[in-house]
Amino acid sequence: MKDKIVVALGGNALGKNPEEQLQLVKHTAKPIVDLIVAGHEVILAHGNGPQVGMINLAMSTASQSEAKTPEMPFPECGAMSQGYIGYHLQNAIREELLNRNMAIPVATVITQVIVDKNDPAFQNPTKPIGAFYSKEEAEQMVAEKGYVMVEDAGRGYRRVVASPMPIDVAEKETVKALVEKGHVVITVGGGGIPVYRDGNALVGIPAVIDKDFASAKIAELLDADYLIILTAVEKVAINFGKPEEKWLSTLSSEEANQYIAEGHFAPGSMLPKVQAALKFANSKPGRKALITSLEKAKEGIDGITGTLVVNYK
Ligand code: ADP
Ligand code: MG
Repeated sequence: MKDKIVVALGGNALGKNPEEQLQLVKHTAKPIVDLIVAGHEVILAHGNGPQVGMINLAMSTASQSEAKTPEMPFPECGAMSQGYIGYHLQNAIREELLNRNMAIPVATVITQVIVDKNDPAFQNPTKPIGAFYSKEEAEQMVAEKGYVMVEDAGRGYRRVVASPMPIDVAEKETVKALVEKGHVVITVGGGGIPVYRDGNALVGIPAVIDKDFASAKIAELLDADYLIILTAVEKVAINFGKPEEKWLSTLSSEEANQYIAEGHFAPGSMLPKVQAALKFANSKPGRKALITSLEKAKEGIDGITGTLVVNYK
């Protein structure tokens, strides 16, 4: 059966620097193209933690150096990361498709994700970004720029931004049109550039939207059949890393909620994946979410491995 699949790629699909990324995407393209060869419609989403961190750090360091380059706002750094990752990813997928005699167009859409300016997350910023600063520098940045700075594990002070929930995707109609044309689209990179609506304007806001939640949102908006979250582990576990560790092949809403309450999923890593998978699976009957490793994507879709999150109601 031909499914519409939103695939969310994790950090292990991209690496940490341009050289590594260029190599890794060749490997990443293979399991993605396997899904396309099997007849599925694939929409790609991805994280950008290391990449946007690198861009932000480079930009803020250069702006404080002799070079005095302009200060680069965080949403602009996010846009740069989408372009840089999309460039590598779209070329790797294009090449892998051509290697299998499939001339399917592949393109990255710079994607903005709408958030609520009044999202409670803005009252409690948690995501550290950019460089480490001394106490004095940090105090100056608080006074001059209104940044929230926190001490990070004895290593110095760092700016933190909020992680609000995605509400809508500004470019959804463009993505939809391309998907309907049969193009492979890379979208909501790094969770999307966070923006809020101000009349007819979309205004960038320094924040980091979780890429797993943004992927679930675009999957919903595109009326996808599947959300596949590809990460470093083949399945979700309870008692992860403990002697009683148990790998799960399926996860119902009831089980997931119980395990979440019992603290089985690490916040910031497995927890958002399970929550995003649940959100999507519960959004409409028939929708399924799968959490598995990059290498096992095809086997996962074929029901051989991975953790399938389904609404049994
Ligand atoms: P990504 O870059 O793909 O988002 P993360 O590192 O954020 O990856 O999250 C995936 C990681 O979560 C896994 O590699 C694993 O180490 C960790 N993890 C935490 N809790 C669990 C769990 N209960 N089951 C499986 N993996 C878990
Ligand atoms: Mg993650």
